[in-house]
Amino acid sequence: MSNSTKYIFVTGGVTSSLGKGIISASLAKLLQARGYSVTIQKLDPYINIDPGTLNPYEHGECYVTDDGAETDLDLGHYERFLNAPTSQANNVTTGRIYQSVIDKERRGEFLGKTVQVIPHITNEIKERIQILGKVGTYDIVITEIGGTVGDIESLPYVETVRQMKWEFDNDCIVVHLTLVPYLSAAGELKTKPTQHSVKQLLELGVQPDVLCCRTEHELDLNLRRKIAQFCNVSMNAVIESRDAETIYDVPILMQVEELDRVVLEKLGLPTKSTPDLKNWKNFLNKLKAPKKEVTIGLIGKYVELKDSYKSISEAFIHGGAANEVKVNVKWIHSQKITAKNAHKELEGLDGILVAPGFGSRGIAGKIETVRYARESKTPFLGICLGMQCAVIEYARNVLGLKEAHTTEIVEDCKVPVIDLMEEQKNISNKGGTMRLGAYKCHLTPGSHVAEAYATEKISERHRHRYEFNNDYLEQFTSNGMNATGTNPDTGLVEVVEIEDHPWFVGAQFHPEYKSTVDNPHPLFVAFVKAVLDNKGKKK
Ligand code: GLN
Repeated sequence: MSNSTKYIFVTGGVTSSLGKGIISASLAKLLQARGYSVTIQKLDPYINIDPGTLNPYEHGECYVTDDGAETDLDLGHYERFLNAPTSQANNVTTGRIYQSVIDKERRGEFLGKTVQVIPHITNEIKERIQILGKVGTYDIVITEIGGTVGDIESLPYVETVRQMKWEFDNDCIVVHLTLVPYLSAAGELKTKPTQHSVKQLLELGVQPDVLCCRTEHELDLNLRRKIAQFCNVSMNAVIESRDAETIYDVPILMQVEELDRVVLEKLGLPTKSTPDLKNWKNFLNKLKAPKKEVTIGLIGKYVELKDSYKSISEAFIHGGAANEVKVNVKWIHSQKITAKNAHKELEGLDGILVAPGFGSRGIAGKIETVRYARESKTPFLGICLGMQCAVIEYARNVLGLKEAHTTEIVEDCKVPVIDLMEEQKNISNKGGTMRLGAYKCHLTPGSHVAEAYATEKISERHRHRYEFNNDYLEQFTSNGMNATGTNPDTGLVEVVEIEDHPWFVGAQFHPEYKSTVDNPHPLFVAFVKAVLDNKGKKK
């Protein structure tokens, strides 16, 4: 569409958690809906190489891309909004930047120069931003800078933005997200924090072009004028961003505020097109007017921090809307579930999802939960560790292999129904031993999964070390638990189902990563439908 790629930076001021990811994704959606090809990138100022080794309590879920990158959960929002895959290039951390610069230094690439934050670190950041522009597929690259302006660790990123604005002139703009708090004692919205945060950016040499003001109340004309005047932006570039009922309303709210038009004008791009949001609005209509309701228990060990299971809860929103059903997710701590109380704690759930996870905490509760779902014939979806627990439970309680376990928990386990593959056994570096990213899978005709996907050849994303141990496959299949999805190249079991059950599916992969507004994930759609059907039958 245009000759050169345009760059939009999204920064945040005043406080964290303003929702830069959602604003970035919403802006991208509006530009995409006008026919522009857009991608979004997140720059994270922390020192970890990637969020793969971070505890979910720190930053929420680790999102995995097709190419096997372990990334920030904001990339999930980008994919869910744009319905386009992201990759390793879409998430860069300070750790990765420094690692790359230090590697270059060791290889002598700086020819004896002193290696410094400016220009070497900033050049590396610039390169990572432009990698996406140079691919040639994108008219617009949106780069979200993690953290808050003023943080020591985001300084090199803001400096990079300054340099790029200087170099790229009109091809580069900055959208700054700020907070306009409401002081109830004064009964007023206050613009001072916004002014200060813009001042902070100005001190670093960056004049924002657009201000997105997060607020709980209407920003009237006077306030807009005041902000525009004090922050040196045009009136129409002061955008009100009110709290929304759902994140999926934000693109519509931003369209009303004309964020997309203001941005295009500032970038010198045509604004004649109107965003085609038909699909999006259809989805919203279904989301807001559900015909029925179901309650699904999500059993996991990080339930105190809902962001730990972000993609799963969003996939339920998409799968629910596709069925015109409201899915109430009941968050249940796996550590709370025991053989004694499982029935009491889980009774009344219309469906059960056992979540992914690592380590021993809560695993006994997950296994008991599977037992309850199997015996009570409650529709069940087990994801990754959830699938592994389903296999362990079946081995113990149906096959009579009482010592069955995963070698993740009991290394010298006598009945390792879940085990490491031979080639993984000698690797000790935690960052590099996982099966990550997209793998092919073939589904058994006539199975619940084949029916759900309406195809027998799929590709799904993985993030795990341990696998179903094929030494036991025959015992399972001759006793009612079938492998209905396998990897065509390695023969690894990717899906298990129980024959004598209304809907019991365990998936070694993570379907939730690929659910989007435009493409609700078939497994979630089918699971919600099975839950609904089963609920109907019980009545
Ligand atoms: N801990 C299990 C493994 O590594 C499952 C991982 C997961 O649930 N993502 O195989």
